[in-house]
Amino acid sequence: MLDYLDMDQTLTAEERMVRNTARDFADAVREDFVDHYRAGSFPMDLIPELGDLGFYAPHLEGYGLAGTTDTAYGLVMQELEACDSGLRSMASVQGALVIYPIHEFGTEAQRERWLPALAAGESVGAFALTEPAHGSNPSGMETRAVEDGDGYRLHGSKTWITNAPIADVILVWARDADGDGDVRGFLVESDTDGVTTDEIGDKLSMRASITGEVGLNGAWVPEESVLAVEGMKGPLSCLTQARFGIAWGAVGAARDCYETALAYANDRDQFGGPIARFQLQQRKLAEMATQISLAQLLAHRLADLKAAGDLRPGQVSMAKRNNVRVARDQARVAREMLGGNGITGDYSPMRHMANMETVYTYEGTHDIHTLILGHDLTGIPAFE
Ligand code: FAD
Repeated sequence: MLDYLDMDQTLTAEERMVRNTARDFADAVREDFVDHYRAGSFPMDLIPELGDLGFYAPHLEGYGLAGTTDTAYGLVMQELEACDSGLRSMASVQGALVIYPIHEFGTEAQRERWLPALAAGESVGAFALTEPAHGSNPSGMETRAVEDGDGYRLHGSKTWITNAPIADVILVWARDADGDGDVRGFLVESDTDGVTTDEIGDKLSMRASITGEVGLNGAWVPEESVLAVEGMKGPLSCLTQARFGIAWGAVGAARDCYETALAYANDRDQFGGPIARFQLQQRKLAEMATQISLAQLLAHRLADLKAAGDLRPGQVSMAKRNNVRVARDQARVAREMLGGNGITGDYSPMRHMANMETVYTYEGTHDIHTLILGHDLTGIPAFE
C-alpha cells in the first residue's frame, strides 16, 4: 500500500490498529458495495456494522463514541473512501454533521436521546442545509421557523440531502422568523407530519449513497428539539469537521486508483512486455505517487493541528480543495492507464472518478474553497 513517506512510522499502535480494522472492513465489504453502486442503493446492513466498529465521529467521547485521536478519525475516513466515497459519506454525515453538532450544541436530554443510537448505527441522521435556490450561499436560506405554542413550525424545502430518505432524524437549519432571524438547528424526526423525503434518482456519481429532497410543510418541532447555537456558526462548524474527513478520505480514493493502475501496468503486456516498463507510464505513476503523498502529508498535518486545537477553517479549506482535486485528477490518469478495461465496472478508477465529481462539489465546491482561501490570504472577500 502506497506510503512513500513512511507516515506509518508516525502512528501510535492504537492508530495503526484502528487503521487496520478500517482497512480490513473496507476490503471485506468492497465487492458487495460495488454491487450496490451499480444498483444505486446503500447496503443498510453496514449502518450498524459501522457503529459496532466505532466509525461514527470516532474522535468524540462519551455516549458510546470511540474517543480516538484526530489522526485515527482521519485514517478511518481514508480507508472507507478507498472502498467508495458513498461509504465514507455515510460515516461523515452521521458523524461530523449529525453526531458532532448534537455533541457540541445539544442539551443533555438531546444527547441522551440521540447520540447512543446514532453512534451504534441504530438510528440514521441527515443534515439539511442546502436549498434548491441556495447551494454555495447557504446563508441565503429561505426555510423559516415560525413560533407555534411550545415549539416551531418549519416551512421550506431542502435538497441534495444525503441519507434523507433513510433518516430517523434530520438536522434542519432554518431562520427564526419571529426572533432576530438567526439561523437555528432543529432536530426533526422524519416521521413528523409535514415532513417529506423524496429520493433523488438517476445520479451518475455517488451512486451508493441515498440522496433526497426534504419538504417542510408546517412540520411542528418542540422547543426541546432546537440546538443551542445561533447563526451560521452552527452549520459552518459542522462543515469544518466533515471537510477534515473529506481531506483524508480523498487520499484513500486516490490511493486505491494508484494501486489499481500500478498492478495493471505490471500485469498488462504490450509490445512484448509490461506497460510499466514504458517511461510514459512511469511518469504517470511517479506523478500520482508524489501528489498522493503530498495530500497525505497535508492530511496528517491537519490532524496534528486539530489535536492541538489550532486548526483554522482556511487550513481545512486548503486541504479539502487540494486533496479532492488530486483524487479527481489522479482517478482520471489511473483510468487512462487501464485502457479500455478502465471504463468498465471491473476496476475502481472510473467509479472513484465519478464519485469525485460529487466530492469536488459538496461541502463547498472547489471554487468556493478557492474564494475562502483568497479571502483568508488577502482579507478581501470575492464571493459577490
Ligand atoms: P451552485 O451554488 O449553484 O454552484 C454552481 C456553480 O457555480 C459551481 O461550480 C460553483 O462553484 C459556482 N459558484 C457558485 N458561487 C460562486 C462564486 N461566488 N464565485 C464563483 N463561482 C461560484 N447539502 C446538504 O446540506 N446536506 C447534504 O447531506 C448534502 N449532500 C450532498 C450529496 C450530493 C450527492 C450532492 C451532489 C450534494 C450534496 N449537498 C448536500 C449539496 C452540496 O453541498 C451543494 O451541491 C453544493 O454546496 C453546491 O451547491 P449547488 O449545487 O447549488 O451549486
